[in-house]
This record gives sequence, C-alpha cells and structure tokens, in this order.
Amino acid sequence: MREYWQNYIDGAWVDGGEGRIDVINPGTGAVLSAHALADVADVDRAVMAAQRVHREGALREMRPIERGRLVQAMGRFLLDNIDAIAGELVLEQGKPLWEARVEVEGAALYFEYYGNQAATVEGRSIPLGAGYFDWTENEPFGVSAQIIPWNYPVEMTARSLSAALATGNSVVIKSPEMTPITNRWFALAAEHVGLPKGAVNVLCGLGRTAGAALAGHRDVNQIVFTGSVPTGVAIATAAAQNVVPCVLELGGKSAAIVHDDADLEAFENDIRWGIYFNAGQVCSAMSRVVVHESRYDELVERAVNVARSLSVGPGIERAEFGANMGAMVSEGQRDRAAAMVQVAEAEGAVVATGGRKLNTPGAFFEPTVVAGVTPDMTIAREEVFGPVLSVLKFSDDAQAIEIANSTDYGLVGGVFTADLDRATKAASQLRAGQVFVNEWYAGGVETPFGGYGKSGYGREKGREALWNYVQTKNVAIKLR
Ligand code: NAD
Repeated sequence: MREYWQNYIDGAWVDGGEGRIDVINPGTGAVLSAHALADVADVDRAVMAAQRVHREGALREMRPIERGRLVQAMGRFLLDNIDAIAGELVLEQGKPLWEARVEVEGAALYFEYYGNQAATVEGRSIPLGAGYFDWTENEPFGVSAQIIPWNYPVEMTARSLSAALATGNSVVIKSPEMTPITNRWFALAAEHVGLPKGAVNVLCGLGRTAGAALAGHRDVNQIVFTGSVPTGVAIATAAAQNVVPCVLELGGKSAAIVHDDADLEAFENDIRWGIYFNAGQVCSAMSRVVVHESRYDELVERAVNVARSLSVGPGIERAEFGANMGAMVSEGQRDRAAAMVQVAEAEGAVVATGGRKLNTPGAFFEPTVVAGVTPDMTIAREEVFGPVLSVLKFSDDAQAIEIANSTDYGLVGGVFTADLDRATKAASQLRAGQVFVNEWYAGGVETPFGGYGKSGYGREKGREALWNYVQTKNVAIKLR
C-alpha cells in the first residue's frame, strides 16, 4: 500500500488544497495510508473541467453505441484489475476479501449493463397532424455530481458513473473520506479507455467542505447522493438553490415479514446475507424480521445459530466465501451500533446473541440478534447500519404490514410464505420501492432500486435510472 494517494482533476493527479487525510485500516485500527483532501477551489476546477467536456461535446455528440463500448471497456478494466482493487478495498473498508471481489464484480456489471443500454435511450415522434413534424430527444444534463458513501465505495460509484457516462454526462465524484483509495480505479479506467480529460474527475474531500461545495456548485447540473437522511436533506437543499435535480438514496429500516408457512431453514440463508453481509452496512439490509408468533421461538433460535456460526476477523484473512464477517468501517460506526443495542436493551428488548465489540484491535462487532423488539423501540425505527438483526412478532397479516410500514423509511421489504396470494397482497401493501418474495436481495443491476418516504427519491439500477441522467427536449417543425 502506497503511503499517499492524490485526487484526479482534469486528467491530472493532484494534491488537495485542504492537505491530507489519514485512511485507517478498520481490520487493524492502524493508519493504512493518506489521501489528498480537496478544498473548494479543487472542487471548482473539477466542475469546470467536466463542464468544459460537456460544452465541447466529446461525450454528448459521440454515437451512443460507441460511448457504450467505452463504458463497457471500463468495466472490463475493473475486472482485469480485480485482485488489486479487491485487496485495497478490504484494507480501507474492512469487508472479507471474497466480499470485496463480489463488490468489484458487481461494479463491473453496471458498466456492462449501462454500456449496453447507451444506444437504447431513444426519443419518440409525436403526431401533430399535417404540417408538423415533432420528436423528442433525451439529452444529458451536463455535469453529474456524485457523492459516494463508504459502505460500497466501488459499487456505488460504478452504479451512478456508468449510467451518467452512458447517457453522455461528464462526472465529478466526491469519494468517501473513510474509503477513498479504491475510487481512483475509476480515473484509471477512464484514462485506460481514452475518455477525454475532465470527463471523469475523482476527488476525496470532507463532506462539510468539498461535499457541500460540490452539491452547491452552480455549474453542476445533476446530483446523485447515497448516505444518511440529514446529509441528503442538506444536499437536496443545496440543489434546490440551483434548481437542479437530485437522486437521493438514504437508507432504510427494511422488514422481512415471515409467515407461519415460511421455509425457515431456507430463511437462514436470507439472515446470513440480509444482515451480516458487509457487516450489515447495507442500505437495503434486512434489519428487521417480523415473524408470525407461532414461529417466533424457532426463528430466534435459527437466527442466533446463524450469527454464532460466523467467524469474525480481518477481511484479508477471509478470502473464501463462507461463514465469516469482517470489520465494520470504523470504530465510530461500531461504537454507534453498540450504543444502539444498549438502548434497545434499556427499552426492554433482549440481546439473544452478540451486542459487543470484539476484544481485539480493529472495528469488529459481534453478529447480533435482538429479540423481543416492539415497533415503538428506537431500534425498530432507526438504522443501525451494522450487523444487528431486530426480531419482532405479529399475530395477523394486517398487523404484519402495519409493523413493516411503521418507520419513516421505505427502501425495500420482503415476504416469506408459500402462499402466492398472500405474497402478492403484501407486495402491494408494503410501502417500499422494492419487494422481495422468498429471497432477500432478489433482483440485480437490471431491477430498479430506490426508496419511498425518507429512503429518498429517484431510482438507481435498471432502465429507470437512465431517466435521472437525461432531460427531454421536444423539437417541433412547421413544414411548408
Ligand atoms: P453521510 O451521509 O454524512 O456521508 C455520506 C457522504 O456524504 C460522504 O461522502 C460525505 O463526505 C458526504 N457529505 C457529508 N456531509 C455533506 C454535505 N453537507 N454536503 C455534501 N456532502 C456531504 O454518512 P456518514 O456520516 O458517513 O454515516 C452516517 C450514517 O449514514 C450511517 O450510520 C448510516 O446510517 C447512514 N449511511 C447510509 C448509507 C446508505 O447506503 N444508505 C451509506 C452510508 C451511511
């Protein structure tokens, strides 16, 4: 690992006007490296470079199928370098090495998918009667500002960058200050495939300075943000001042409803992936299970067994897919999760397993199951963003839906049952942007993803996401 990494602005690697920030390895607690920290002037230069590329039209005017080819080549570049990227990701973020590889593969898939979609963003012709010819076009906004969270720094950047480039936008990425190192691979990918200088800019900076400057920059034309609700509100407010659109993806407190006829043995796998993958630091994590009272004891027992089966330790030692979990991203995030479990206990919940930090260096937290949770408890309403499963009980279907819908969030939801009628009824009643039936995380890059309520607005993934990056222009011709 190098000692210091720079930002990438207008095709050049540069220091940051605010100096440097230490990057901590959450698997050891030690300083891993340092990264340049952008200031407001750096942000301005990046936005102006991206704006220049947009004005000059290098991306905008390219035949979409060719632009798509470049986007796809960026994904292949990531795969060609998967060993290096995944290795760095583990060291800066804490996840197991096999999960880091899954993340890089997922990132590459976005470039494959949106590269493939580039040529499909078609307008339509609108009949206006004799004497007129009318059509619509979908033009890129211009400069897309993308503010990235630390939980999936590679995949989240890939998600918005690939769609923005495929539709002909240029991009300024504000990488997360805790996990900035792997984001440089997007600059390297852009260089590798021959995108013009300034088309992709990657800079790390503090949220309150560089992030705020980017969100409020008057030459930014569109903003994508994934992260917390308060920061999302700040960014949307800044965007409103400049009257530019945002996509906000703000997390959740998503519930799986488990009916009395559900296959609980199979559900163990959903627990494993739903709340312990990435140490639970997933916006669409299955952080609540709402189970029928007749299966409650069995479910708690199975969840405890899953949690206890996981070996927790440094991600770099966990190369193979299996029953293991890495560090959380930071000691701060870990302590926050621990404090939330303590509050749950004080409010009357029962910690069935876990709940404590490991007595070793690094940001490790035990896979945790909190049972006896009721909808009024803090842990039932607020995002822990850690490996903490809350188990609640219901007695009839209507109550299950009411509990599932009882938070301010509405990102995803799940129903586990053998009864298709029950599942489809629940799917229409759940207030969430995505519903999984009998498999948590069913779906992929092809399926639209985004929230109801405080989980945000706009959609990522799928064809729906493309429409966030283009604006419609109508052209009407009066024929002679
Ligand atoms: P955050 O929302 O504050 O930070 C996310 C990104 O926004 C970072 O890149 C940060 O630099 C930037 N940012 C912060 N303030 C900004 C501002 N005023 N203007 C522009 N950009 C700004 O999240 P956090 O502090 O890292 O984590 C806090 C909580 O947020 C977590 O505990 C978790 O609950 C939630 N979170 C959710 C997701 C998700 O995927 N939904 C991701 C990360 C964090």
